[in-house]
Amino acid sequence: MNIREKILIVEDEARIARFISTILNNNGYEAIQARTGQEAMSIISSHCPDLIILDLGLPDMDGLSVLKEVRAWSSLPVVVVSARTHEKDKVEALDLGADDYLTKPFGTDELLARVRTAIRHTRTIFGNDEIAQRGTYTVGELTIDYNKHQVLVGGENAKLTLSEFRLVALLGKYAGKVLTYDYIIKELWGPRAGANNQILRVNMANIRRKIEKNPAEPQYIFTEVGVGYRMAEGD
Ligand code: CA
Repeated sequence: MNIREKILIVEDEARIARFISTILNNNGYEAIQARTGQEAMSIISSHCPDLIILDLGLPDMDGLSVLKEVRAWSSLPVVVVSARTHEKDKVEALDLGADDYLTKPFGTDELLARVRTAIRHTRTIFGNDEIAQRGTYTVGELTIDYNKHQVLVGGENAKLTLSEFRLVALLGKYAGKVLTYDYIIKELWGPRAGANNQILRVNMANIRRKIEKNPAEPQYIFTEVGVGYRMAEGD
């Protein structure tokens, strides 16, 4: 039986809504559309979508309010869409429980990658099947070994410190998904840790020297400017 995942597109710009909808329908999903926040809320309860693509600039209400309402009762995956310059909105959306974001303008591959990742992370308890089954996460030449607490590059131990390992391990667990600086800091150093991105940047610089061929053009861990970090997804 072929079950098509239902994806609700909440977007007031008809051209963008059509663009997203065509891509999704051509790639095995069933797209439904809402143009306002109110319409979205009623479609969510009547159609039970598997994922929501949510524009933050809606005519009747702020997209973040829609997100808040959804998060009040559901962990339904939500990918927000916003303009390039609005880093603060993206961080706020992620902190409110959005699963990821797309920056306008975005391409087909990026859209499909975000959708796939968000759906997969809700389907698996651990977020990542490979880690759950084998205790490792692999992308390209990089392997994170969760049992031995090691990161290998081309089979060689990259000799990360414990805090460097914990940072890489966290990103690997949510590969493909952006994690905000605040989220990472709280996960690694506890809820009372201050919002000090400097310590993260230092750790990341050291990690990149150890795992990336060219630290200036990373292939494993990407910086999402003003937002956080994202680990590359394996095949
Ligand atoms: Ca809009």
